Amino acid sequence: MPSAAEVKIYPRSAHTISRTQISENALKVLYRLQKSGFDAYLVGGCVRDLLLGREPKDFDVATNADPEQIRKIFRNCRLIGRRFRLAHVHFGREVIEVATFRGGGEEQNDRQMLNKEGRLLRDNVYGTIEEDVWRRDFTVNALYYNIRDFSVVDYTGGMEDHRAGMLRLIGDPETRFREDPVRMLRAVRFAVKLGFKLHPDCEKSIPELAELLSNIPSARLYDEALKLFLSGYALQTFEMLRHYGLFKVLFPATESSLAIEENGFPKLLLIKALENSDNRIAEGKTVTAYFLLAAFLWEPVQVEAKENMIQGMVEYIAYQEAAGKVISRQIKSTALPRHISMAMREVWNLQPRFAARIGSKPNRLLKHPRFRAAYDFFVLRAETGGADPELADWWRRYQDASEAEQRKMTQPSRRLQHGKSCRKKNFRKNPSSNATGNES
Ligand code: ATP
Ligand code: MG
Repeated sequence: MPSAAEVKIYPRSAHTISRTQISENALKVLYRLQKSGFDAYLVGGCVRDLLLGREPKDFDVATNADPEQIRKIFRNCRLIGRRFRLAHVHFGREVIEVATFRGGGEEQNDRQMLNKEGRLLRDNVYGTIEEDVWRRDFTVNALYYNIRDFSVVDYTGGMEDHRAGMLRLIGDPETRFREDPVRMLRAVRFAVKLGFKLHPDCEKSIPELAELLSNIPSARLYDEALKLFLSGYALQTFEMLRHYGLFKVLFPATESSLAIEENGFPKLLLIKALENSDNRIAEGKTVTAYFLLAAFLWEPVQVEAKENMIQGMVEYIAYQEAAGKVISRQIKSTALPRHISMAMREVWNLQPRFAARIGSKPNRLLKHPRFRAAYDFFVLRAETGGADPELADWWRRYQDASEAEQRKMTQPSRRLQHGKSCRKKNFRKNPSSNATGNES
């Protein structure tokens, strides 16, 4: 633990954070705490992002006021958390999180509870700013912007690491990863998001400790997985997670399917899905978790379904069963909320229905509430050799066609003609191609 002498204070003139970058509501909270006689700092990701000139996702405040004192200052405030109480100050849709400095640093090990793998089970003691610093993960996440004089307070060398674009854990990397293995995922997330490098010591520990993630509650891993893959840098994240042996802990079945890839097919589908999602985010469009997750688990479902068909199950049932099994295995690693797994199954179940182009079936599929996602998924498959591109194109035209044209497109005579030409075509080398999407 450093003494106060080791603190570096960067005055306003020595850093680039200006109050105009800070949300008005966060400033209100900081000033009100200060006026009430408390210390108040911005801390964590927002300081790190402001130093990069980026707009922070949210603003977190740290103070020496305890939660009850915070509540008395702000009417629009709710206390959350049982073990460690935090205050949420609400301003319409914006929430400013205000946390009391937390204690439980190194010299208080007797007050901390670690499990046999070294995981931190309890850290619910209030402390001072000097103590609060040491519970944080990376040095660049442990910078405090002081509202009193607009200086940045740095106990861990975070400012220098920030300038060097370096993610360094505070303290011994192995100990810190053992305390909370999710920090390994955070390391990847920040490295990708900020374009920072992982410090070599930190990097070295990850593959050795990756397996510890499997002890983390699946609900927390689901939340982290969403942050990782809905960040706008999903592809890079995926590659880095695989590189460090972290991906297989989150998605074991997907990892196995990548290992047995044929003609690069499963990896291609996944990469395309990740790329699409990054592009959509870059264009300001929304992305849905279930679509990506459906792509992650599509190949495992196919493998399982093929097994089932070999056992004599009819295709439709084989897929249903496979989906159920793949999902129930996946939720041992990351939870999947029910509405998410239902949506994934719908996307999968609708895939064979793209093969039917006559009569009323196409129109019924078009009206299905999950049509759009299922169609996008079908296109993804067609683009990566898993379904007939001509069929995907037919559906593109069908959607845009007038009602009269649609009726023409779905007349039986046309189907017969098309059926002939389609049978001759071998559009995909992957053996599971006939299972869905192909006209039979
Ligand atoms: P972003 O919000 O951009 O994802 P962030 O750094 O603000 O990044 P949060 O999860 O919002 O991340 O956490 C706020 C701060 O709390 C972090 O900057 C860090 O100081 C601390 N923190 C969060 N999670 C952990 C953890 N698992 N271990 C140690 N410190 C943590
Ligand atoms: Mg944050």
